[in-house]
Amino acid sequence: MSDPVIKRYDKAAGGWDSLKRSYQALRDEGIVGAGARAMLRTNQDHGFDCPGCAWPDRNPNSTFEFCENGVKAVAAEATAKRLTRDFFAQHTVTQLSGQDDFWLEAQGRLTEPMRYDATSDRYVPVLWDEAFALVAARLNALDSPDRAVFYTSGRTSNEAAFLYQLFIREFGTNNLPDCSNLCHEASGVALTEQIGSGKGSVTLEDFEQAEAIFVFGQNPGTNHPRMLGELRAAAKRGCRIVVFNPLRERGLERFAHPQSPSDMLLGTQTEIASRYFQPRIGGDLALLIGLAKIVLERDAIDHDFITQCCDGFDALRESVLAANWADIEADSGLSRAAIDDAAQVYIDSPATIVCWGMGITQHRRSVATIQMLMNLLLLRGNIGKPGAGPCPVRGHSNVQGDRTMGIYEKPAPEFLDRLGAEFGFAPPRPPGFDVVAAIDAMATGEARVFFAMGGNFAAATPDTLRTAEALRRCDLTVHVSTKLNRSHLVHGREALILPCLGRSEFDEQAEGRQAVTVEDSMSMVHLSAGIRAPASEHLLSEPAIVARLACATLPASKTPWRELIAHYDRIRDRIARVVPGFDDFNARVRHPGGFHLPHPARERRFPTVSGRALLVPQPLRDGTPDPAAPFRLMTVRSHDQYNTTVYGLDDRYRGVRGLRRVVFIHREDLAMLGFSAGDCVDLHSYWHDGERSVSGFTLVEYDIPRGNLASYFPETNPLVPLGSVAERAGTPTSKSIPVRLTRSAVGTRSS
Ligand code: SF4
Repeated sequence: MSDPVIKRYDKAAGGWDSLKRSYQALRDEGIVGAGARAMLRTNQDHGFDCPGCAWPDRNPNSTFEFCENGVKAVAAEATAKRLTRDFFAQHTVTQLSGQDDFWLEAQGRLTEPMRYDATSDRYVPVLWDEAFALVAARLNALDSPDRAVFYTSGRTSNEAAFLYQLFIREFGTNNLPDCSNLCHEASGVALTEQIGSGKGSVTLEDFEQAEAIFVFGQNPGTNHPRMLGELRAAAKRGCRIVVFNPLRERGLERFAHPQSPSDMLLGTQTEIASRYFQPRIGGDLALLIGLAKIVLERDAIDHDFITQCCDGFDALRESVLAANWADIEADSGLSRAAIDDAAQVYIDSPATIVCWGMGITQHRRSVATIQMLMNLLLLRGNIGKPGAGPCPVRGHSNVQGDRTMGIYEKPAPEFLDRLGAEFGFAPPRPPGFDVVAAIDAMATGEARVFFAMGGNFAAATPDTLRTAEALRRCDLTVHVSTKLNRSHLVHGREALILPCLGRSEFDEQAEGRQAVTVEDSMSMVHLSAGIRAPASEHLLSEPAIVARLACATLPASKTPWRELIAHYDRIRDRIARVVPGFDDFNARVRHPGGFHLPHPARERRFPTVSGRALLVPQPLRDGTPDPAAPFRLMTVRSHDQYNTTVYGLDDRYRGVRGLRRVVFIHREDLAMLGFSAGDCVDLHSYWHDGERSVSGFTLVEYDIPRGNLASYFPETNPLVPLGSVAERAGTPTSKSIPVRLTRSAVGTRSS
């Protein structure tokens, strides 16, 4: 591991450094040859879906359908390192708790089910049947099914997710929090109300036809790297790419495509953003109102589309025109001239895509902001035509598919009707807990059992100390996982780790080798089939874990659980009868590249309450003051990180090596506070229930607006108050934390 170094990175994103880091990832996991072979089957027909992000595959028959971060994700899963019972015998849980997330991740693949033994403070081996019997006994001993919480991460396949929600609803609860609650919940709430679907409407073909692409609060160079390939192609053909991001992110500035011979051999690179604006954190709603104001003032609207398809125009117009420029400039941190410049690009473009990520969704007013994004698109008819539409870019590879399969704490009554009719039971109707409500319920003792299908709940969630206290109050915590993580160490009175197959591994069931399906960020559904021997003979697939748990817990269930998992086609046949858009699922998903789920807005049909798209006015200021603190902090990922998984300690594009506890800050703020780059600080946030602090963060001078800071999660998650969530969506406000800085008593200066 290298010594910490902070040094500006001047190269384009991608390039040779990306190839070098990819090789290093395979080498570090001891799988240079096998890993390279696995990569050639990533995102291919007859191969497996990358377990990284949800960006769609352009050509499932091309040789290279992966990126540097896809290599890291596959290498981490395909690692030669194994975590056996001997490892757990050598380390108490208390000792393991002292290790950081990078160390935990680096220990290798779990190999057999483990049970927490309180006497020795160690995980000890347990047989699968004993593990299922333990979970079943604790679930059936609850005085209400609503005292159990069942979390899902976005890695879970469609087949596993469908069976899992079926089991949970047969058990009797809708307590199905998922990682969508933490990321794009606000997008779903906003878009469903306005256009009748919570998903984006664009496809990759639209990226080929767009005349302008607006990117808000998103860092594709790290979080969806193959999106840079689309942006590069668009920029090369003259499409204008307009970026709004408080941070300068290299991937949005310049890109050298690692799969382009000319970029690699001749050193060429492509300028991505034709305009790059840096609003202040949380300034997006104001700048969007400014953009809409200019569009309206110049009458640059699609009158026919609005007349034929939209409601709410007059109210929106009145509200937007009433906003004054002084407030817009103050709230957005952008000048009127800058907003005017961006608006002219928008007005000049006959077809525009708007993309956004968690820089938009994790704020108190994120639903309002997304609705203003959608208003802007609707004003110019930028939906339901080639090259135009909303594109909320999803994170984990099947996060969108899991929702489609019914992983939702507030299921639609029609979905429950179909599920109950298909499987002969009466699904529960009351809504369940989302992530924040689930933590509250565990903290108060209302929820007693916590079951996680994948993910790293303790690290992904806000208010780390309170979440840990909540998990520790549980009678039983269970994690279905491939590798050791923080959540295994923050456990209930009893705890289980159930090791499962990875995406890249063979899934052998009673009737042969199985494939699963996933849905990407643009609603393409396709097959994913493992290509490697499992890391251990004791691993089970996620569908098998659900089915065996259901058999143990629900002996009177009419669902033929074992028959369903003997061949996953049978699960898909059931999905086809319950979930709209999956007719003839088994045949269509075997077409090369899979199939596209219908999105009515692509045909300008809007299944809203009124049957028309809805323009929704959003006041610039709603009278609810944000808590006062001199700085506003956003949590971000490093380049060597995917969600909570830390693959390394470098953040190449931002010039950080060997260090994660850093805070990015403007040069003049450093001077104002009397600090220098490299000084160590503590961060403190405020909420009505008190102060939260984290300590020992190195200050890094960075191109970020004054008054704004950025730092990595999960290290700064302890600063996010559990009760600070997006209105109407419940998403934690992890991109907008009011904080102050104090000189730290711990830590050292970095070079
Ligand atoms: S862009 Fe996302 S899905 Fe594609 S290879 Fe990279 S991490 Fe995997």
